[in-house]
Amino acid sequence: MSHSSLPHDIDIDAVITGDIRLDAASSLRLYHEAPLHELGKWAAQRCQFIHGEQYRTYVIDRNINYTNVCSAHCTFCAFKRDLGDTDAYLLNTKALHEKVRQLVNIGGTQILLQGGMHPELPIEFYEQMLRDLKCEFPSIHIHGFSPPEIVEFVAVFKLEGFPCTLPNRSHELSNDVWQAKLEAILTRLCDAGLDSIPGGGGEIFADRVRRRIGIGKATADQWLKVMSCAHQIGMFTSATMMFGHIESVADRIDHMLRVRAAQDRVIEAQYPGRYLSFISWPFQPDHTPLGKLDSWDPESGEPFAGDDPQHPLAGKQLRLAGATDYLRTQALSRLVLDNIQSITSSWVTVGPKIGQLGLFYGANDMGSVMMEENVVSAAGTTHCLNEPVLCHLIREAGFVPAQRDNKYRRLHVHEGQQSPDHQVKDWSRHRRTNLHRQGSGDEGGQVPLPVVGDRAS
Ligand code: SF4
Repeated sequence: MSHSSLPHDIDIDAVITGDIRLDAASSLRLYHEAPLHELGKWAAQRCQFIHGEQYRTYVIDRNINYTNVCSAHCTFCAFKRDLGDTDAYLLNTKALHEKVRQLVNIGGTQILLQGGMHPELPIEFYEQMLRDLKCEFPSIHIHGFSPPEIVEFVAVFKLEGFPCTLPNRSHELSNDVWQAKLEAILTRLCDAGLDSIPGGGGEIFADRVRRRIGIGKATADQWLKVMSCAHQIGMFTSATMMFGHIESVADRIDHMLRVRAAQDRVIEAQYPGRYLSFISWPFQPDHTPLGKLDSWDPESGEPFAGDDPQHPLAGKQLRLAGATDYLRTQALSRLVLDNIQSITSSWVTVGPKIGQLGLFYGANDMGSVMMEENVVSAAGTTHCLNEPVLCHLIREAGFVPAQRDNKYRRLHVHEGQQSPDHQVKDWSRHRRTNLHRQGSGDEGGQVPLPVVGDRAS
């Protein structure tokens, strides 16, 4: 097949069938040189090669941030609070369980349970939280604690036989001790009910970027080590990337290639767990320190790796990513990540319509219905969708919507008249009465549940 608009030395047909891999240079050229619709078409073909079925999936889960207290200082974050801030919170058991109960009532199957990296809570707090959740909601899958939280656990938790490095982190653990403590912690959390680990906190792995945006949180190396350890003990995880800030396209590609290499190692080692999915999304700038960095800084002395000096944005500090940049990046991720089964569209950040378009740019999954979101919405953007609308978006795109679980197993394939979207007779009224755009200053999407302001003891 001829692909006239393709850089001539890239055999895209072989990429689509998985017979050759894109390297960093060819990925960069594809990103910059391939027309958007062509890149999307190839990613969709690759997606169809992996997912030949006619359905596209979604999950019903709920983001629950059990605390907003966080010891890190990510410059892209508008969510975190310091211990002692008047609006710092830690959910109590009653509030937490009420949120899960509401999820169960709409047919939900999993929770995404994340902080803040709380600097004081002991491991027993988390074990109790997990056990209580499993006892009350045995069928709910707990997808919880992103790698940066777990890295904080390694520093904070007092475990017999292991030192902890807080309060002043004056001494670091040796690699062997750190690794052994990590494994001990993950095993205990797993035994208490943790089912899988979300890929939060991946951001961009490149150290030059990471040390400017993820201040005080896990390094890329630590992030990957946490996931590797989780895979080793049998947990499944996702991988993420947040882009459109101070990284270059080459940094995005480097990030994808590091995820791919990590998955290669997992497969090679025959670990029982692995990365199941990859999701990338554009940085949301509102109310964040990083969002204020909009000036050109030719003095910074740190040219973006891989940038063409003639590029019109060369030297611009904060680039942001619009719809086409998003679609390009997602399409490229589908082509690069040949060993990751699922690519999820991030409609939460880019909106339902671009999210839907993502199904033609390599995504086979639309992520989750959104009952509640706290982190992205604090930075300005969250679109809330319910199950009928999510099904409608998938069906409008020409696919059959299917509810999945955390391991991407189909639970319900919605082909018949009983499908959630087929129950809606008046879409304009449904949208008006059921949906909203949740963002800072618009608390319409917040579920009015009690949140306690006290600290755990
Ligand atoms: S992004 Fe997460 S880890 Fe970073 S400051 Fe915000 S809550 Fe903390």
